[in-house]
Amino acid sequence: MICPQCDRCAGYHDDVPRTLVSLFGPLGYQRAYYYCRRCGHGRYPFDEQAGITPRNLTPAVEQLATLAGGVCDSFERGADLLADMAAVRLSESTVERTTEDVGRRIAAHLDRGELFGPPVVWAWNRDAKGRRVAYVTVDATGTRQQGPGGRAAEGRMAYVAGVYNPPPVEWLRQPGQAPPPLQARYLSGLYALEELGPLLRRLAAQVGMEHADLWIALTDGGSGLEGFARQNFNRPDLVLILDFYHPASYLEALAKALHPGDAEQAKAQAEAWCRLLKEEGGALTLAVLRAWDWPARKSKALREQLQKTEEYFANNAHRMEYPEYWAEGWHIGSGVVESACKTVVGQRLKGAGKRWGEAGAHALCHVRALYRSEKGQWQAFWKRQVTKRTGVQQIK
Ligand SMILES: [Zn+2]
Repeated sequence: MICPQCDRCAGYHDDVPRTLVSLFGPLGYQRAYYYCRRCGHGRYPFDEQAGITPRNLTPAVEQLATLAGGVCDSFERGADLLADMAAVRLSESTVERTTEDVGRRIAAHLDRGELFGPPVVWAWNRDAKGRRVAYVTVDATGTRQQGPGGRAAEGRMAYVAGVYNPPPVEWLRQPGQAPPPLQARYLSGLYALEELGPLLRRLAAQVGMEHADLWIALTDGGSGLEGFARQNFNRPDLVLILDFYHPASYLEALAKALHPGDAEQAKAQAEAWCRLLKEEGGALTLAVLRAWDWPARKSKALREQLQKTEEYFANNAHRMEYPEYWAEGWHIGSGVVESACKTVVGQRLKGAGKRWGEAGAHALCHVRALYRSEKGQWQAFWKRQVTKRTGVQQIK
């Protein structure tokens, strides 16, 4: 064979035995070894063509191990699941390293501007005025990072972003008709916001976001997310909505501080405030909170939470016109998408006592995001159906 290093002839040297882990247990085989005398480079062409991993797994076992490592609560459970379902025995650390290798491969594709499967145009669902609406979302999610020496790492934020086409809101649907399924593609990793922008735009372009009449960006308040949405999806009529889940969680915390030790009363109060927010919007809810008959002597927790909530509502009221959004037939972020977003990485990364190295968390985020994306994305990666980079316009 031709030596890939120096283009000289690399001669056949020997047949070398190797043992693999296959779906059917250990598998011994021999493959030809070629060696280049000029540059000292040796290789096994069969292993490369067959996609044998450096950890002696067949491609099928690699795929299963990644699935188990990605969907289970821990790599240890992943190894157990693998043994239960396929009688494949791998150590916890092999499941972990294999999953992380795959995550790095996914990230490398994205980094090169490559996506999985062919470009498509989603049939964007329509709002109350018949406009086809495309949604993007981005949210930061806390992961506990482990830095050198076990110190908490400064690290980049873990983001979950996505482009999605939710079913029409309930009041726009035909009664008795099952809603079309949610279509969503996710992106997640420890990125800087500037890095995330082009990746998300490319993901959106791949599903035909340009063809939608209206774009809606759902984000949390603060930490540059509104600016991120404006910069990356800056159509003049871009609609920015504060993902309802976030102000609702402020109200829940406030209700708990008001009724410490009475979970039921706190829950009822939180629900009443959330209803008010949904029906009357952020500005009015803020006015109600300001005029509330608070106890004369507030606890420290209540004082702090009230101040945080008022600030948050004051800063984001322009994105909390929920009754208007409802009348337009738009989604406000609670429900299926919000929960899907949380499950992309939240469940797996935030488990009790979990601490992650930055590289490991970044890799796992990619596995989770691809796995949770609409059907076909995960499969396209494994079938190596990669769409190479095409020019993506900076939308200006
Ligand atoms: Zn050579």
